Amino acid sequence: MATTPGRVRSAFKSGTPARVHRNPFDDVLEQIDRAAEVLHPDADALEPLRHARRQVIVSIPVMMDDGRLRVLEGYRVVYDNSRGPGKGGIRYHPDVNLDEMKALAAWMAWKCAIVDIPFGGAKGGVACDPLKMSDGELERVTRRYISEIFDLIGPTVDIPAPDVGTSPRVMAWVMDTFSMKKGYVEPGVVTGKPIPLGGSGGRLEATGRGLLFVTRETLRRIGHVLSDSTVAIQGFGNVGSNAAKLLHAAGARVVAVSDVSGAVYDPHGLDMPRVLAYYRETRQLRGFPGTELLDNQQLLRLPVDVLLPAAMEGQINADNASELRARIVVEGANGPTTPEADQILSKRGVLVVPDILANAGGVVVSYFEWVQDRYGYFWKEPEVNERLEEKMVAAFDAVWTTKEKFEVDARTAAYILAVDRIIEARSLRGLYA
Ligand code: GLU
Repeated sequence: MATTPGRVRSAFKSGTPARVHRNPFDDVLEQIDRAAEVLHPDADALEPLRHARRQVIVSIPVMMDDGRLRVLEGYRVVYDNSRGPGKGGIRYHPDVNLDEMKALAAWMAWKCAIVDIPFGGAKGGVACDPLKMSDGELERVTRRYISEIFDLIGPTVDIPAPDVGTSPRVMAWVMDTFSMKKGYVEPGVVTGKPIPLGGSGGRLEATGRGLLFVTRETLRRIGHVLSDSTVAIQGFGNVGSNAAKLLHAAGARVVAVSDVSGAVYDPHGLDMPRVLAYYRETRQLRGFPGTELLDNQQLLRLPVDVLLPAAMEGQINADNASELRARIVVEGANGPTTPEADQILSKRGVLVVPDILANAGGVVVSYFEWVQDRYGYFWKEPEVNERLEEKMVAAFDAVWTTKEKFEVDARTAAYILAVDRIIEARSLRGLYA
């Protein structure tokens, strides 16, 4: 069902910048309400889901390379731990704030419930710009941040992982700081580590690989195949770049990818191995030969079968949702579509595969990493990938069945499934008083 680019070039005279997004935690509350309208849970069962279990803010004094002391703000939120220890990434980004952490932690709780792994949801971060910091500064920030939340994390308590602005290198410092303070090596305290420190084969590509499986299953449900589909991807970090690589390798025509420098577009399909090599060399996509340069807003409006937003929250909003021309949106980022945009897309018949299902591949392989760390025996990468596929397809089927049963959109179905599973766990445990 590959769509042709048509008059796309002339349509893109100017790009509208995305409107500054509202509080993402309001989106979480609205999405819970939407699931509750269908599920009709007991009000007492629902109310705890509207509150984070624990929210911590810490000060992180750090000596910068120029000899000046800066005090950064760090956060760690555990939203829910009824199904297991808190689980979720650490984000380093200038916009990190408590409401964003709460929203992201809640989404982690729903995500873990949907893919049925024994974790609750958590998220942490530091308000800083890692792109402007040296390795030494990043290490000092990480070690002090982990020292400040030391009592609140651990393999059975709350397990961090990479997120926007952090990497396996940062996770190595997390593992080392925690282990040094404990006095013994504890690899299970954090996932997304480098392989020699107890990381798992396949973890680096896991979110992208999960997106590949979910995209394939979605297309299959509507009678299409990857090899006859066009894809545009916003964002070229770990998630976007690996999704682009794997979708291309699986036969999809990836026509556009973007980073902060802009989007590169070729309606005939990009040669992804060459794009990846160019990006590795220049650290930007802009200037990749033989392509048209678009901005990020133009990318979102391309006439493609699959649009895969893999950047930040609120990118698809009331300002641009009516202009999207994709048939399917597969959310690689967390919270890329606002609730208003969701409604617009749903009325227009655009199928949105929600973040809490679509991008769960990362946390699924984090779970596998944690399991391997805890029993000290490691699987071969093909085994990890096979188990990931099994988990993603099962979660996809569960969401799709719920969607058909309640005649709702895929996001509401995912929320129904998650809320139902968490409420069940909470009710089985009862109230500790
Ligand atoms: N940061 C990733 C996410 O948002 C991975 C979290 C994890 O592996 O714990 O899903």
